[in-house]
Amino acid sequence: MNELLENNATLGGIIEKELKPLVKKVDCEAFYAEGYLEKLGEAGLMSSVNKTQKQLIMDEMLLVEETAKVCMTTAFCLWCHLAALTYVRHTTNETLKRKLLPSLENGEILGATGLSNPMKSFAGLERLYLSAEPIEGGYILSGVLPSVSNLGENHWFGLIAGVNEEKQIMCCIPCNTVGLEMKEKADYLGINGSATYACQFNQVFIPNEWVLSENASAFVERVRPAFISYQIPLGLGVTKASITSIEKVCQRQNGCNRFLKTQSGSLQDSVQQIEKRLQTAFSQESLNWKEIAGIRLDSAYLTLEAVQAAMLHNGSAGYLKESAPSRRLREAYFYANLTPTIKHLEKVLQNN
Ligand SMILES: Cc1cc2nc3c(=O)[nH]c(=O)nc-3n(C[C@H](O)[C@H](O)[C@H](O)COP(=O)(O)OP(=O)(O)OC[C@H]3O[C@@H](n4cnc5c(N)ncnc54)[C@H](O)[C@@H]3O)c2cc1C
Repeated sequence: MNELLENNATLGGIIEKELKPLVKKVDCEAFYAEGYLEKLGEAGLMSSVNKTQKQLIMDEMLLVEETAKVCMTTAFCLWCHLAALTYVRHTTNETLKRKLLPSLENGEILGATGLSNPMKSFAGLERLYLSAEPIEGGYILSGVLPSVSNLGENHWFGLIAGVNEEKQIMCCIPCNTVGLEMKEKADYLGINGSATYACQFNQVFIPNEWVLSENASAFVERVRPAFISYQIPLGLGVTKASITSIEKVCQRQNGCNRFLKTQSGSLQDSVQQIEKRLQTAFSQESLNWKEIAGIRLDSAYLTLEAVQAAMLHNGSAGYLKESAPSRRLREAYFYANLTPTIKHLEKVLQNN
């Protein structure tokens, strides 16, 4: 068996055993499926050994998509982890890389990202919420990040703090850092099994060893294409699961669903167009972030269309609180509002 098929079989097995039985618990009881993420690492599915950067991203996008077909909340947690992995893979801080990279890739340590606010700040949407004061051996951080997901014991997350108007630093810190206060947030419409916390920094000392980059805006430009690429399969997974769900109920009520305006065929065509654009983007020498951002935007609109269509095709069975179409509807609205949100992407792409 070649490596790709072998990896697909391994992934399929882990999804069946470690994720499918937990989906309702994740959706309805805010259960955080960290064991699933650990298993992906343990199986070597996030290893960068012997892979080009593009091959690595494409393989990991597949992990996100297959996960999102079953549970987008957990796929979002996987995205958080992959975002953190991307930061560590790109840092020139070799000490931090040596310390974290193998453990993040094999799932011993899980990663997360608090970059929504800085991404919005770099795009002129809001001010930077964290400040960093340089002191001997590191920085003192103050401020609040309203939402960071995929956090817990033995988890590290990336963040950006402003030193002054011109300089921002980016670091990766563990959740047990002294002075960091975490307050769980699980009152959302969906995605509550994402281990999301508000993170308050009360004069928190960050040693230089945890600094990913002393020039955060340049660093963000390097990691942004991968950061956004890893999000696209969140939408594609939910869209494909919605298409399957539409097709499953097509015979109900003497095939009356065929009179609905949105059918699985047109959604499937849109998926194929997005996949084609992704292939083109990945066949170029380097990833163009605006091209990726355009694909991400269209995938968000497509996902909303697909989950809405699945609700119409499924009728009252889909309207049950704990049904899969209703879960996907709630997941899709998060995808639309995950940074870069639809409005953020529209601003960036229309300002061109
Ligand atoms: C469940 C969940 C998990 C998330 N996980 C992460 C993560 O892991 N990392 C990360 O960096 N970001 C995370 N975010 C943030 C996310 O990526 C988006 O930034 C956010 O969902 C929406 O951004 P927005 O641009 O619409 O602005 P909003 O967050 O809606 O903010 C716009 C304005 O509204 C204010 N505001 C925010 N919440 C409220 C409220 N409840 N009532 C009134 N005003 C409010 C804000 O202060 C701001 O000025 C998460 C958000 C949610 C909901």
